[in-house]
Amino acid sequence: MSGLPLVALVGRPNVGKSTLFNRLIGERRAIVSPQPGLTRDRLYGRVEWGGRAFGLIDTAGLDRVVRDGPEGDLPANTQTQARAALAQAELICLVTDVRAGVTAADLEVVEVLRRARQPVLLVGNKHEGSGDRLLFHELYGVGLGDPLPISAISGAGTGDLLDAIVEHLPAAVPVPEEAGELVRCAIVGRPNVGKSSILNALLGEERALVSQVAGTTRDPVDTRLETAEGPLLLVDTAGMRRPGVTKDADFYSLVRALRAVDRADVAMVVVDAQAPLLAQDRHIAGQAREAGAATLVVLNKWDLLDQDERSDRALIRELRSAYDFAPGTPFLYVSAKTGRGLQRILPAIFELARSRAKRISTPELNAALGEVLERHPPPSGRGGRRLRLYYATQARSRVPTFALFVNDPELLHFSYARHLENELRRRFGFAGVPIRLRPRKSGASSDRS
Ligand code: GDP
Ligand code: GDP
Repeated sequence: MSGLPLVALVGRPNVGKSTLFNRLIGERRAIVSPQPGLTRDRLYGRVEWGGRAFGLIDTAGLDRVVRDGPEGDLPANTQTQARAALAQAELICLVTDVRAGVTAADLEVVEVLRRARQPVLLVGNKHEGSGDRLLFHELYGVGLGDPLPISAISGAGTGDLLDAIVEHLPAAVPVPEEAGELVRCAIVGRPNVGKSSILNALLGEERALVSQVAGTTRDPVDTRLETAEGPLLLVDTAGMRRPGVTKDADFYSLVRALRAVDRADVAMVVVDAQAPLLAQDRHIAGQAREAGAATLVVLNKWDLLDQDERSDRALIRELRSAYDFAPGTPFLYVSAKTGRGLQRILPAIFELARSRAKRISTPELNAALGEVLERHPPPSGRGGRRLRLYYATQARSRVPTFALFVNDPELLHFSYARHLENELRRRFGFAGVPIRLRPRKSGASSDRS
């Protein structure tokens, strides 16, 4: 399967989609040091249930992110969200509110979903308390099969819902794991920023060495490229051929991007140099970091800027603060039209992938962290207790992950974790790469200090 199957939550406002989304993805916090703005507007998450995994998307949240785009502030309606879901998801959950019963707005969405080729599960949320106030029975009349009663707030019925989701997912096709050093890169960005132009330029001379990799989901197609630096898999390049600049296209590309970065080593976020700071682009970069992909920001259409704009220092600072979720994120200024800067893209992708795959030996790691802690000791926490690090080891690479055996994981505050991350980045060359710290309680002696 080309990536995880996608399950979309759709429904009119206030039925409880976000509440359900949060409940289903759980409070699984992969990153110890949350960054403001990263998790607040979460729209996509992974769920594992009964040995299956799928990606879950909250379609209502898409609108908050897309509305900040050039198309202005018209909130997209629920039908648009449902259409975006239909175009890409393997399964749809229509969420309704059994306290309100079936409303005209619900029926509008049902109209869209009736045309769905994929399974639709009808969910009656807010099903709690005494039955007679609830209008659950109305759901039998909408023609989408037997409804499932749940309470997103209490969690009642969500296990049955997950069972039903997993049961209706298409069979997983295992991704053939490449033994070699295949690097997976997602090229993402809003419609019309120049993704396909850049892709074509990258494929250019190497056209003969390009192969299309068919997916088993709707239509994703990856493109494999043999480069001087090694094999490169450009993830979901089929998504780039969709034309248009409508709001639907924005929704479409956002869903696609969230899904693509979830299975990439490197996310190449292409932005239009003339409008480089939109929420959609930043959201994708944030999601890439959460998914553990290293990010490369490509500012395209550089040819359209005048001299003053090109040397605007304030803009560059702003860009850094908007996208630099992992310090050292490369920024490339390119023009797919003139060819400027394009030759730097492939080396930057491979450099990030190499950093992300790096392994640090345990003695080196402990020596470095010992020095960092000595030079800059952790602040003391409540009751004067202080973090103590007994031992550290790199638990995995390709999202460099470090297990820290400490006296009390609670004492690793996020600002100090950020400091440790940055020191690891600087000392071991993890520039631009997300790092995960996993503090574990260790049985070692007393923690007084
Ligand atoms: P969305 O607009 O569909 O994403 O809806 P939200 O998740 O923001 O929820 C809308 C309101 O319904 C909030 O006040 C939630 O607290 C409430 N809500 C969500 N799920 C439940 C539920 O299972 N039971 C009850 N009683 N309220 C819920
Ligand atoms: P996509 O939707 O992100 O794949 O964008 P396209 O590659 O289809 O490009 C959208 C439009 O922008 C096309 O008309 C391109 O010719 C134009 N374009 C792409 N890159 C550049 C560039 O660097 N400079 C200029 N001036 N136009 C560009």
